[in-house]
Amino acid sequence: MLRQRTLKTLTKAVGVGLHSGQRVELTLRPAQPDTGIVFRRTDLAVPVDIPVSAEAVTDTRLASTISNGGAKVHTVEHLMSACAGLGVDNLYVDITAEEVPILDGSSASFVFLLQSAGIEQQNAPRRFIRVLRPVEVREGEGENLKWARLDPYHGYKLRFEIDFAHRVVDSTGQHHEFDLSSGQYSRDIARARTFGFTKDVEMMRSRGLGLGAGMDNAIVMDDYRVLNAEGLRYDDEFVKHKILDAMGDLYLLGKPLLAAYSAFRSGHAMNNRLIRALLADQDAFEVVSFADERQAPAGFAVPARAW
Ligand SMILES: [Zn+2]
Repeated sequence: MLRQRTLKTLTKAVGVGLHSGQRVELTLRPAQPDTGIVFRRTDLAVPVDIPVSAEAVTDTRLASTISNGGAKVHTVEHLMSACAGLGVDNLYVDITAEEVPILDGSSASFVFLLQSAGIEQQNAPRRFIRVLRPVEVREGEGENLKWARLDPYHGYKLRFEIDFAHRVVDSTGQHHEFDLSSGQYSRDIARARTFGFTKDVEMMRSRGLGLGAGMDNAIVMDDYRVLNAEGLRYDDEFVKHKILDAMGDLYLLGKPLLAAYSAFRSGHAMNNRLIRALLADQDAFEVVSFADERQAPAGFAVPARAW
């Protein structure tokens, strides 16, 4: 049987929120089978649980925010991406503020935390959402066109294309395809950082956002070049970060996908529209598990390797 996974033990991190600039403590704890991933705001007078789901996403400007009643957690996508990449099904995420710490701006720190705690198999079948027919969302035309879609695929792969009118980004790889069966999430995707432009940072700060952003947690560019002294981690770090984000946004479904995702200039909002469109079409998916691991896609029975 292909089993659900949680952590062996708890692990903690302290950091700042990218947008709030607030100090935040994060504790990742093991959870029982079928719990899913549940964020818990432990700083509130009465702690509030926020289980992840497509419908829990209430804001997608700049980052993915999930809510339960008035309680929110912003910027869940990089941690969710690490959970998707390592195949973690059940987890409590205790958090002392309303934003997940940005750490180094990628999901590499979350991968490190999860792997330090150790990943444990549980005595319950891992359930997947298998896409049975294409689902697509699109908006705009010409220069404003963007789209994202899911197609049937026995495995999980993501193909992303970006099109920024910016000379730094344009000189790097604009598209990338990643197949989870490669077992190389940690090495090939997890280290890609979020990115921004100095002029946008000034605009965001005037709106009280991006207060925690800096060169230790983002790629920062002016009109001509990358300002970080160490340069890029991958030649095509920008598009790889978009794949990292998409993996986190799609994992908000609450179950891993068996599908081929492809997207052109998509972002958090469109990724959320895509999973809502999938769930709205009962004939477009089924929930499956694998009593015999050998029936699962190649590589899925083995937790992703460390780099
Ligand atoms: Zn991101």
